[in-house]
Amino acid sequence: MQQVKDKEQTRIEKLIHSIPKTEIHLHLEGLVSVDTLWYLISRNKLEFDGINTREDLEQQFDFKSLDEFIWFYINILQNAFRTSEDLKCLITDAKTYLSRNNIVYAEIFFAPSKFVQNGLEFAEMMQILHDGAQKLQSEDNIEIKFIIDVSRSYGIENAEQNLALTLEHLNDSIIGIGLGGSESQGPAELFPSVFKKAIDKGLKVVAHAGEDVDSSSIWNSIKFLKAQRIGHGISARDDAKLIEYLQKTGIPLEICPTSNVFTRKFIQRLEDHPIRLFFDSGINVTLNTDDPTLFNIDLVEEYYNMYNHLDFTIEELFQLMKNTLFATFLPQEKKSALWEKTVAAIKRAGYLAP
Ligand SMILES: [Zn+2]
Repeated sequence: MQQVKDKEQTRIEKLIHSIPKTEIHLHLEGLVSVDTLWYLISRNKLEFDGINTREDLEQQFDFKSLDEFIWFYINILQNAFRTSEDLKCLITDAKTYLSRNNIVYAEIFFAPSKFVQNGLEFAEMMQILHDGAQKLQSEDNIEIKFIIDVSRSYGIENAEQNLALTLEHLNDSIIGIGLGGSESQGPAELFPSVFKKAIDKGLKVVAHAGEDVDSSSIWNSIKFLKAQRIGHGISARDDAKLIEYLQKTGIPLEICPTSNVFTRKFIQRLEDHPIRLFFDSGINVTLNTDDPTLFNIDLVEEYYNMYNHLDFTIEELFQLMKNTLFATFLPQEKKSALWEKTVAAIKRAGYLAP
């Protein structure tokens, strides 16, 4: 019986892999490979309680809450990078992840706060991201754009400073700003000035919301930040008015199911994830992995999870791919061109595109 299931899983994952995909909720630091992180900790001679071997490090990837996850993210993961040059490893790891999943375009968060605190030069970091994006484009035909996470974890002044630095060192690879970090400690209401300024300067704006706090956080991100997409948004599950509003406006939700199971706030099992409810309610649902290494999840596998645990049909998986592509910040003509290629791949696989 098990063998039949494995064969089925292999077949579906092969199919999912064969279709070119996009991803819009992905953190650069969360793409770090365990090898890279262990290498940096060892080479930079860093000492962290309870982490003496590579195995110890991997065992840390067991989070009981979003705040516990963020603590690890800032104090161990980001803290392991001690020079701007270290960030180049992340581009290599991003390339491995994107290729492995046949992702042809991705919008990737980068959160500079901790790196700036550790003395890394903002200008150098932006240059490394830009060079990395150009290298991926020319060598692998993969396009990436960055969204700078101004962060809600360090207060308004830090967020203002992050925006100012971003605007000062803007390049073609930077398309917007986001708001990540501790949702319970840094509510959207604190940051409207930062977001207004970013919009005025032509940047796209997104916000994590409803990942760790009730639906008021989603409403406030729309109202105070004018967020063009919502990261997670799963607490909308309990707010019929918000479900209706999201359906009517088409504001995309960047859903990351496995991540939500890891951080445990609203759901404990994939089967209970509201992505099914949102999809059936006509909300513009997209599928993403958030932090692939830390949550041990690949995008291909996440699509399979939707098929296996949440009764998405193959055609519905294609619809999720379409939603994600059209929720990107690519210009319309690029979206259409990419969708044409996607449709061709779907047809080659023997299916009809949505
Ligand atoms: Zn995220």
